[in-house]
Amino acid sequence: MKIESRLAQIGSQNDPQTGAVSFPIYQSTAFRHPRLGQSTGFDYSRSKSPTRAVLEAAAADLERGDAGFATSSGMAALQIVFSLFSSGDHLLVSLDLYGGTYRLLEQVMSRFGVTATYIDTNDLDALESHRKPNTKAVLIETPTNPLMMVTDIAKVAAWAKRFDLLTIVDNTLLTPFFQRPIELGADIVVHSASKYLGGHNDVLAGLIVTKGEKLSADVAFLHNSIGAVLGPQDSWLLMRGMKTLALRMERHQANATRIAEWLKSHPSVESVYYPALPDHPGHDIQKAQSSGNTGIFSFRMKDARTIEPILRHIKLIAFAESLGGGESLMTYPAVQTHADIPEEIRLAVGVDDRLLRFSVGLEHADDILEDLRQAIEAAEREING
Ligand SMILES: *Cc1c(COP(=O)(O)O)cnc(C)c1O
Repeated sequence: MKIESRLAQIGSQNDPQTGAVSFPIYQSTAFRHPRLGQSTGFDYSRSKSPTRAVLEAAAADLERGDAGFATSSGMAALQIVFSLFSSGDHLLVSLDLYGGTYRLLEQVMSRFGVTATYIDTNDLDALESHRKPNTKAVLIETPTNPLMMVTDIAKVAAWAKRFDLLTIVDNTLLTPFFQRPIELGADIVVHSASKYLGGHNDVLAGLIVTKGEKLSADVAFLHNSIGAVLGPQDSWLLMRGMKTLALRMERHQANATRIAEWLKSHPSVESVYYPALPDHPGHDIQKAQSSGNTGIFSFRMKDARTIEPILRHIKLIAFAESLGGGESLMTYPAVQTHADIPEEIRLAVGVDDRLLRFSVGLEHADDILEDLRQAIEAAEREING
């Protein structure tokens, strides 16, 4: 079945007992055993819970992996995956990285002896020259957040396999509707499901999907041992959101493309970072490995003084951090999402004080454009007296 059908049908055929079309919330931590040595398949909900199990099976199916794991947040998913590594292990990681992932690696995992080097993961020479005898994995975000750098997943996964390195892809921005890294050779996919998968700015969740029996068993062990699992109510909310993923991603893409094109020709804007635009350096790779574009992009204003008044004058668009929901949100990465990345690294990548990140929502594109137009105009008026 096509992915649209599999999304719409999540959980709807999993409750033969009642025939519930919307899979129920099983709000129980413990499950009766029929007798000694027998089990219904469930014993304690940290290990396995009915509502979460339906979500996890759907995640594995959508990403074309062998096993899915639902976690209490995207960061919890990353923490569980990083726990595959031991003191002395080294990771190669995308340079323009989600700030929280950088913080987890540098301020937490480093204390446990797991180190990381941040490079352009699309550059095989850079990967090769930074690979050490203790390197165990490559962690890719593609496109990256906020600068939308694109990595050729198949190329990197093939390189990584030669050296027995795991390829881990954070697929939050494109979702399995547009991109399936496991089909391109990745071993592990992680998601902040709080973004497009949930899609309504109302549930915090993460997902891990693994390929291969051993890796799936190792992550299952860590998921249960660490315990950062998703509860039944949030599992249900996430499945409810995912049913409309296809429709939402198509609208996010259409709105974002229209607004990115408009900003690109705006005299106050210096540059727009969106892989759907033909002159984006990652355009061709993205087109080859993904079937569409995300709803988020970044743009750099010519004058840093316009940033504060733009954020003050937007009305429909909310000044808030997050992405992927129905509501349009504008973020200032240098002081919000990426504040934990040291300034020299931030500036080297291009996350400077003129950069805004825009998660384009599901409102009508005319209304979003009008709000942006009036905010930029008001900002220009203020700084020009
Ligand atoms: C938000 C985000 C995360 C972290 O997920 P949470 O659900 O907020 O914990 C990780 N990676 C990317 C790309 C994100 O956008």
